[in-house]
Amino acid sequence: MAHDCDVIVIGAGLSGLAAARALEAGGADVRVLEARDRVGGRTLNRSVGERPEDLVEVGGQWVGPGQNEVLGLVAELGIVTYPTHTDGENLFEDPGGRLKRYSGTIPRLNPVVLADYGRADARFKRMSKKVDPDAPWEHPDAEELDGLTVDAWIRKAARTKTAREALALGIRAVFSVEPADLSMLHALFYAAAADGWDFLVDTEGGGQQDRIVGGSQLISLRMAEGLGERVSLSSPVRSIRVEEDGVIIGDMRARRVIVALPPALAGTLLYEPALPSQRAQLTQRVPMGSVIKCMAVYDQPFWRADGLSGIATSLPGPVQVIFDNTPANGSPGVLMGFLEGRDARILGPAPEAERRRAVIDTFTRLFGERAASPSGYIEKDWSSEPFSRGCYAGVPTPGTWTAYGSALREPVGRIHWAGTETGTRWMGYFDGAIQAGRRAAAEVMAAEGAKRPAAVA
Ligand code: FAD
Repeated sequence: MAHDCDVIVIGAGLSGLAAARALEAGGADVRVLEARDRVGGRTLNRSVGERPEDLVEVGGQWVGPGQNEVLGLVAELGIVTYPTHTDGENLFEDPGGRLKRYSGTIPRLNPVVLADYGRADARFKRMSKKVDPDAPWEHPDAEELDGLTVDAWIRKAARTKTAREALALGIRAVFSVEPADLSMLHALFYAAAADGWDFLVDTEGGGQQDRIVGGSQLISLRMAEGLGERVSLSSPVRSIRVEEDGVIIGDMRARRVIVALPPALAGTLLYEPALPSQRAQLTQRVPMGSVIKCMAVYDQPFWRADGLSGIATSLPGPVQVIFDNTPANGSPGVLMGFLEGRDARILGPAPEAERRRAVIDTFTRLFGERAASPSGYIEKDWSSEPFSRGCYAGVPTPGTWTAYGSALREPVGRIHWAGTETGTRWMGYFDGAIQAGRRAAAEVMAAEGAKRPAAVA
């Protein structure tokens, strides 16, 4: 077969672009096929003002310590970060609608609730230390943990209603699914892959610590700029045909392909010959989470003058997690909240006006009447995006890790798998996406016996 290039990468998100960049650096001739008319996948900048720096992100946005792949790449690309706004007191709204101000990570709950919550939280953290993020299915109790939903575990681990609700809120915030959707093994794996649960949920010292000047989509835009014409936009791939000495995708032929898509989207492609049963079934068992990212825009971040950080958690919701998302230069003021899991499923199909009202009502209960009249409102429902079908990431259903986990990264002949869902560090995050792309690129180069251009060509 005459090849048009060495490697085709499907998807110009962080993972596909990182793979293409690594392959190019290794001397391979690479093409990236992207379905959308833009790069960045689950990252997308949106303007909130006249100036170029008046930017927010409607997709992923934060980076934090320990995320060495993304932080290294950001530095390589000449991009800088700035801290998430945390000055001031945080707010907590209890199930009865009472507001409490607090500093640090945990609100001053009633002591019985606090002890109940603390016990369950500490137990979860201890359990997560025993999971190997490279192979969670090898945990001695893997089957039991994979068959146990986080919902069932919470009911046993915590006795009070408020502690249970607070634990469920944490799960929604990290996974954008309900505790009943989630296997305990996956939840523990996720924490292990981030070096601990605290790194997943913390702002200072955790995954929400920093933001990207120029918006997180800039990382992909810069990588794509470097790849130039090797990236083709508006080029959705529908099928992959594998022959003895190469792959055929549309009218292009290459030696190998990297599928840098979440499993749920990889499963929508037509494979000839058919995928092995383990891989074909795996792709049906990693559904995407449900999240709507919502932002209200104000002239100024008025809550800062009230001594508030803009960080809030609300048990009544429907917006349960809120941040100050004001751009780096301090205006306009932006409050951002997530509708996650159940709340995204209920409000996603509702008319926009109803959803907006629910979001602004939550902001107003927390931050006062001034929150009731934003000058703008922005939202993005990732479940209705045909080339994402949900976010933040794919979440294996209970039983999937133990029955199908080994098929997650295992190449199928000339087909290699990337995307954050195949990451072993910070799976579901930018960092996991980049790690996965680089790992898939290394696999391809090893398989072609090539770091040298001549050997690939
Ligand atoms: P994607 O970005 O999904 O890339 C896949 C690409 O493939 C897309 O560009 C898509 O258009 C394309 N594609 C799909 N189908 C086809 C096809 N058939 N043919 C060709 N191309 C196709 N992560 C963090 O680290 N920090 C955060 O703060 C954070 N917050 C988040 C908040 C939200 C609201 C969302 C949505 C995500 C968030 N995430 C966050 C997750 C993060 O955005 C993702 O983990 C990461 O961007 C995934 O990158 P990826 O390359 O693996 O996948």
